[in-house]
Amino acid sequence: MESSPEAMPQPPSGRYLLRTFGCQMNEHDSERIAGLLEADGMTPVTDAADAQIVVFNTCAIRENADNKLYGNLGHLRPLKMANPDLRIVVAGCLAQKDQGKIQERAPWVDVVIGTHALPELLDLIQRAAEDGPQMDVREYTEIFPSALPAARESAFKAWVSIAVGCDNSCSFCIVPLVRGPQKSRPIGDVLAEVQGLARTGVTEVTLLGQNVNTYGRDMTVPGSARRPLFADLLRAVNEVEDIRRIRFTSPHPHDFTPDVIEAMAESSRVCEHIHFPLQSGSDAVLKAMRRSYRSQRYLGWLEQIRAAIPEIAVSTDIIVGFPGETDEDFEETMRVVEQARFDAAFMFQYSPRPGTTAGTMEDQVPKEQVQQRFDRLVALQEQISRACNEALIGARQELLIEAGGKGGLQGRTRGNKLVHFDHAGDLTPGMFVDARITGAEAHYLKGDLVREAASVR
Ligand code: SAM
Ligand code: SF4
Repeated sequence: MESSPEAMPQPPSGRYLLRTFGCQMNEHDSERIAGLLEADGMTPVTDAADAQIVVFNTCAIRENADNKLYGNLGHLRPLKMANPDLRIVVAGCLAQKDQGKIQERAPWVDVVIGTHALPELLDLIQRAAEDGPQMDVREYTEIFPSALPAARESAFKAWVSIAVGCDNSCSFCIVPLVRGPQKSRPIGDVLAEVQGLARTGVTEVTLLGQNVNTYGRDMTVPGSARRPLFADLLRAVNEVEDIRRIRFTSPHPHDFTPDVIEAMAESSRVCEHIHFPLQSGSDAVLKAMRRSYRSQRYLGWLEQIRAAIPEIAVSTDIIVGFPGETDEDFEETMRVVEQARFDAAFMFQYSPRPGTTAGTMEDQVPKEQVQQRFDRLVALQEQISRACNEALIGARQELLIEAGGKGGLQGRTRGNKLVHFDHAGDLTPGMFVDARITGAEAHYLKGDLVREAASVR
């Protein structure tokens, strides 16, 4: 006798809502989550009330991310009560960190899927429909997310994962705990993905890893004892025809070796931008953070990079209020920031993370003091960013058009700066144009198109 279709649990189908928190790595994973769901016939929606599956791809880097997730899950509860067929999935770093706690605190969550288990997503959703709540928080990545189908945000720009995890142990950072040790992707797989992307019209790739410049240290080249290096990878990707811009994030300053600088300088498609995370300007704090460089070495490396690639733009990450940071330590950070003259900086107030060495340090800096220091640092960096941008006024810059808005378009320079310029009806995102920079703010530039036939490609 055939069983009636109504009696069988329904496979996932219909509409999904995906919300992504955190860094580029999570955005990359989200393209794969969307890719898997769309390969299964689902379409994206923007309102949870219209969805059969809701996925939160979470971040654990700072504490407010935890609070946000549990708040969001609380909002979904009435929807789940009204519609028990709604499937709620928590993915990403918080899923890896909190594991079973998520379903303890929010029993209406159907699937908890950690950072290494993405290929299991559809199975877990199916099993949740049949057997109730599921969790997969395995410890190691076997299949790179990049090997899964992708629903990409952009038709002309793409993330390409070259390694997952991190072998460092910066005392503030939860990444090694939730992403595991470094695992590099074979160079052939990376190249095959970049070549495939180029064939579909992608012109800009960003190579992704927690510590991109230790790429390859955990593996050898097949048939030899040699390890592939990040510099080799940059040169190899630079050979891929039709890719016009190569970016990468994030390198660790300590591993930014001369061969990487040389490879960047010699590879015409590698953009003149690096993200070079300082974290602190105080040597005592750097030591307590377990960062393996000190401020003078950091500034020395920056000088070498700028000497080799004079037009390079530099961005950074800085943490304010690390435990034990004194007024003098903070003044050191201000001094290094003044000397380094970063084009842009991501500045964070220190947030204690469970499982990290710094999380249990006793001399946490009072909130008001952190805020005061943070505000001063932001004000200083805004001045510097504005001055760096003003120095570009009058320069001609190649832009990749990223988006159109009311009455204007936005493009990005090779140095990763956003440029607003007046709308021209025949231009669309994905095109390359040249612009003359006419104005500068701290966070963006203004420009006029250089109207030469050859400037639109
Ligand atoms: N792998 C990158 C590196 O080594 O620079 C950084 C990864 S992390 C996603 C991005 C930035 O978040 C870090 O550079 C750091 O500035 C900041 N961050 C990490 N842990 C933090 C914490 N506990 N509190 C505040 N900021 C933090
Ligand atoms: Fe975290 Fe340090 Fe690894 Fe970056 S290098 S991911 S800050 S542990």
